[in-house]
Amino acid sequence: MQHSWKDELETFRQLVKKMKAYEEALGVMYWDLRTGAPRQSVEGRSSVIGVLSGAMFKLQTSEEMGRVVQRLSEEDIWKQLDQTDRKMVEECQKEYVRSTKIPQDRYEQFVVLTSQAESVWEDAKERSDFPMFLPYLKKIITYTKEFIERWGYEGHPYNALLDQYEPGMTTDKLDEVFGQLRKRTVPLLQEIAASPHQPDTAFLSQDYGKEEQRKFSHYILEQMGYDFTAGRLDESVHPFATGLNPGDVRITTSFRPDDISFSLFSTIHEGGHALYEQNIARDLMGTVLCTGTSMGIHESQSRFWENKVGRSQPFWRRYFRELQQAFPGKFDHVQADDFYRAINIVQPSLIRIEADELTYNLHVMIRYELEKALFGGELQAAELPEAWNAKYEEYLGVKADRAAEGVLQDVHWAGGAFGYFPSYSLGNMYAAQMYETIRNDLSDFDGLLERGELIPIKDWLTERIYRFGKLLTPAEVIQHVTGEPLNPRYLADYLEAKYRAIYRID
Ligand code: ZN
Repeated sequence: MQHSWKDELETFRQLVKKMKAYEEALGVMYWDLRTGAPRQSVEGRSSVIGVLSGAMFKLQTSEEMGRVVQRLSEEDIWKQLDQTDRKMVEECQKEYVRSTKIPQDRYEQFVVLTSQAESVWEDAKERSDFPMFLPYLKKIITYTKEFIERWGYEGHPYNALLDQYEPGMTTDKLDEVFGQLRKRTVPLLQEIAASPHQPDTAFLSQDYGKEEQRKFSHYILEQMGYDFTAGRLDESVHPFATGLNPGDVRITTSFRPDDISFSLFSTIHEGGHALYEQNIARDLMGTVLCTGTSMGIHESQSRFWENKVGRSQPFWRRYFRELQQAFPGKFDHVQADDFYRAINIVQPSLIRIEADELTYNLHVMIRYELEKALFGGELQAAELPEAWNAKYEEYLGVKADRAAEGVLQDVHWAGGAFGYFPSYSLGNMYAAQMYETIRNDLSDFDGLLERGELIPIKDWLTERIYRFGKLLTPAEVIQHVTGEPLNPRYLADYLEAKYRAIYRID
């Protein structure tokens, strides 16, 4: 006997609820492992994580899930579903189809391989030994190529990887937007290097107490409207944000004793991710839509707060006083505007995560071009160090002497996360486009920053972006917020205006 569609919908919701429960439990465990779990807990905890992830994968790919999403997609039933249920069915069906194309044993082997590869990568990076990591990298690429074939794709094989992080994104679109951005970034970078007006940054590297840094991070988060009754701030080597549900969105930062900018901008960045997750509409709680819509849109929010707010001149005209008071004796003879120029210094460098706002995108483009070539069959894994160095010389004019500062610097490939890097620059482009809109929309945006009125900004973003969670696709979000599709011109214009002023280039 066939079940009524309302029963099927109930079954579907229960399945999703279970999956979300596993996901939340896993989220807490990962957070714990990365923040304060005793060293000896790691082995046992990893095996628990393995069991729970396996159980979650089983639910996601179960016959029952296949049956209900199929049934609920039938036209006459589909018509009767509300927007949330439709979108949930769509998401789960996509995930189901994608996951069931990979045999369970191949998937499990891949998970084991990447977890081994991550620890080999750590050692290899430590020793700056690329050949040590190479056999693992080769295997990961082979698996990924197999998965791409099983998933299927249109156009370039790399599109199958992009779709995991930025649904709808393709190499054609990326080539175009990155091409335009690069054409305007590279000459600007040359003008900046030639400018005699280089900012003084000495006061950014003094001795800063951890407690003072923690307090200041806390204060800035409060100013941004981060809700401490629905989150907390901890410390970890690599800062991150984790959204368990809108009532529990945790962030971490890292305090470097001799570098004030690191904790400051890590906190604001992760705070931006957290505001997104804290302000998703409560009626999406417990659904698969209760998260950011894509890595790129998520990154647009962290970058918006970090760069458009936290690295802006009006923001520091307001908050520099507080910074001076929070770190007695450290900034007594510094002016707010000098501080603003210092935190925006442009310096081509080898390390992506330490890059400034302007050169950052070039780091991303290099990784994108290499990944695309790997999966397009034009580049072999063994050729990566050489190709890496050639591109760094060409785009940034710097060369890594050690693989640790070159091809081995990021963990992404060890984790099998090919296709992820472009999200970072997409985030910058989305953020700049949204910045243009918010400035037109909220009269006197700079005035708000200068008066420390950050809540209206958070509310604007909530109204247009945060509350929708995954109800809208990334392309829908950018269209709905700004009235046009992704356009790299806004980022290029913003960077040009900002850095011409800072470096006094006419
Ligand atoms: Zn981020």
